[in-house]
Amino acid sequence: MVQKGLESILQGTSGSPGICIGPAYLVDREGVDVVEKYNVLPDGIRDETNRFRTAVKKAEDELKEVIDELSEDLYHHLTILESHLALFKDKMLYGRTIEAIEGERINAEWALKKVSTRAKEMFQNIADPYLQGRVDDIVQVSDRIMMNLVGAVTVNIANIDKRVVLVAKDLTPADTSRIQLERIKGFVTDRGGKTSHTSIIARTLELPSVMGLGNVSSLIKNDDIIIVDGTQGVVIIDPSDETLAEYEEKKLRYEARRANVKRRSKIPATTTDGVTLKLMGNIELAEEIVSVMDYGGEGIGLFRTEFQYLSRSHFPTEEELYEQYREVAELIFPEPVVIRTLDINGDKALIYAKESDEENPALGLRAIRFCLQRPDVFMTQLRAILRAAAFGNVRLMFPMISGLEEVLETKKLLKEAAAQLEAEGIPYSEAFEMGIMIEVPSAVVMAERLAEEVDFFSIGTNDLTQYTLAIDRGNRKVAHLYNSLHPAVLRMIKQVVDVGKRCNVRVCLCGEMASEPANMPVLLGLELDELSMTPQSLPAVKEMVRGLSFSESQKFAERVISADSVAEVEALMDAFVYPDEVTNGGPSAV
Ligand code: PEP
Ligand code: MG
Repeated sequence: MVQKGLESILQGTSGSPGICIGPAYLVDREGVDVVEKYNVLPDGIRDETNRFRTAVKKAEDELKEVIDELSEDLYHHLTILESHLALFKDKMLYGRTIEAIEGERINAEWALKKVSTRAKEMFQNIADPYLQGRVDDIVQVSDRIMMNLVGAVTVNIANIDKRVVLVAKDLTPADTSRIQLERIKGFVTDRGGKTSHTSIIARTLELPSVMGLGNVSSLIKNDDIIIVDGTQGVVIIDPSDETLAEYEEKKLRYEARRANVKRRSKIPATTTDGVTLKLMGNIELAEEIVSVMDYGGEGIGLFRTEFQYLSRSHFPTEEELYEQYREVAELIFPEPVVIRTLDINGDKALIYAKESDEENPALGLRAIRFCLQRPDVFMTQLRAILRAAAFGNVRLMFPMISGLEEVLETKKLLKEAAAQLEAEGIPYSEAFEMGIMIEVPSAVVMAERLAEEVDFFSIGTNDLTQYTLAIDRGNRKVAHLYNSLHPAVLRMIKQVVDVGKRCNVRVCLCGEMASEPANMPVLLGLELDELSMTPQSLPAVKEMVRGLSFSESQKFAERVISADSVAEVEALMDAFVYPDEVTNGGPSAV
């Protein structure tokens, strides 16, 4: 914390961008963190487990009430709240707490605290930030049960009738979904981070928020004036008049900019010479579909389905997968959703699959390789996708294809899944486009043959760069060498686009390089049919494309792919965008 005069400045994590200023309102959660341990006599065990069961039942009923009252614009968050409902009865929390009460003869509060702490530690030791975010789900569910055990009183957020900024140790997705937008200006919390579900909801509601502030709830008092800068992740308590004026102005500027960008995000990405590029969004969770629509995405070019497998302790069922895919397909319809089958392992290891422990995971049993070794897991997902395809514009895509055999084997399993559904009389559709990701160099080399088997290619430049340049995409020590603008990668993209044109196969690109507006002259010039990116990048990328000429970008791309190095590619790009700044003798704009 930085103290400047009377004001205190705290740095946290941006939960959701934007600025708000207002009086603090503390959401009390006392009683949950401090619990006592005591032993229970053998004949009191049954009463103690019953006390725990009653607290779980009450917490479940409260959450069901929240779900019933969920407003329509937050309905897509239902899955988050339902995942909390499932956690109430999860073996890891529910079963183990009962075991601890019975086995160790301890009180329910202590047993729950012990079990939830162990579960938190287990998730926290996993490098995946998404899984770390799920720690919040465990904390929130166990807090809800604990509040019923200890009889703690909390503020009902739905009843707050002042214009305030909420201050809390933590807010659950259920709390956040009850926020009355006309009353609550924003919120700050001690816990949480960018990938927590609470911040996902905050972004959907466009409520400025800062999270992970440590002890903010014990520093701020009710009615203290606070500034929340959700963009920078900064909170200022008791600001001076000068700071207040500065932030009032920043707030106005931010809102004007946001309105402008959003207003223009629905305008298609048509170049100055009339060529329109189809731009879509990448999502990891069903709830992110809102951002794709808000930012003007024309469909979902990549739905990374593995996150639904990572956020739990066992493989999801066909029904769970089907429900989610169907929801996404229906919401985005008539635009398409490209559902990519499970791409686990590599940097996204499953804790409950024994195959996940590998020496060299990026080159190991990842994605399609894992699925072909576990047809039970793969068939469940294929059946769910086939069923959801009956309800929208679904495209199916397979990751990490390195050769023909994988495609043929996969198609065989897909046919088998369809035959099973047919025999069981379950509705499904097979009338969809099927494609593969081109992200392994061998697939680039074999593209012509692979094109005979599929309807589209989607170039995954994140992995194509990793595997082409032999640079682990997650290794900080070689991060300076990782660059998708390497001429080798650009030439591979060109090779795949050329095959696509020759063989009448559409070519999309869905790696992170599509999220960078400065890359547009190259990608447009390379003649990709579609790009898919982080939803928040869509407005800026669209704006960039609208300012470009397709024919000039084509000529520019020809020069770029004959460059010798990343440095030369970057110099050409600078010269293209800022031609006036290039001195004589330097590369000139097309
Ligand atoms: C890619 O590799 O470029 C890609 C889009 O897939 P992921 O980032 O999920 O590996
Ligand atoms: Mg990839």
